Amino acid sequence: MPIPGVIAIDGPGASGKNTVGLILAQRLGYRFLDSGAMYRALTWQALQMAIDFADEALLERLAASMRIEVTAADLAHPHGGLLLDGADVTPQLHRPEVDAKVSLVAQISGVRRILVAQQRSIAAEDGIVVVGRDIGTVVLPEAGLKLYLDAGAPARARRRHAELLAGGDLIAYEEVLAALEQRDAIDSQRIGSPLRPAPDARIIATDQLTAAEVADLVLQPCQN
Ligand code: C5P
Repeated sequence: MPIPGVIAIDGPGASGKNTVGLILAQRLGYRFLDSGAMYRALTWQALQMAIDFADEALLERLAASMRIEVTAADLAHPHGGLLLDGADVTPQLHRPEVDAKVSLVAQISGVRRILVAQQRSIAAEDGIVVVGRDIGTVVLPEAGLKLYLDAGAPARARRRHAELLAGGDLIAYEEVLAALEQRDAIDSQRIGSPLRPAPDARIIATDQLTAAEVADLVLQPCQN
């Protein structure tokens, strides 16, 4: 199988999609886009401005006015960076207060319209791995390879908990699990672009696999 020019990876939070996506991008020399970071950046900005999260029109205007630049991975930003109106907000994007609100922001159809258009324009050129919830179904349905990574909520919560502790956020595991489950519920039950595998996606359970093993599995058919 030839290596596809566009690889779409979807799945719930902490299913390993960012790490796998980054490994695939590095191995193939592709660009990497974490679309979740864009929804997170908007949420962070709204928190900074103390915007009412029920005010959908205001959140949509904020999305339209924000200038988001995605930067390549480097030593300080191993998953790639994100500049919001020129300021590096990467370290803020996975804070628990962003986790708590991002799914509310992401269910606003006007917000999605704006961010999906930006994601399509970034992915217009081949040689990219794009990660999110609706990449294979809505953003890039023509992607040459679609993956859907999944794992049980406890395994995913353990991963996210370890990441948060490593970043200095002293939060209880139970709190992380509850927040992930709440986000899963909103993301998979929303009316527009709900989280689900594309009909032609390859579904991979990542509970028992490292990210490098998932990447090996995915690239194997391309190497033969
Ligand atoms: O992937 P990550 O967990 O960082 O995404 C954060 C949130 O952004 C998700 O829970 C979801 O609400 C939203 N999201 C989305 N569509 C995407 C990527 C993320 O709705 N393509």
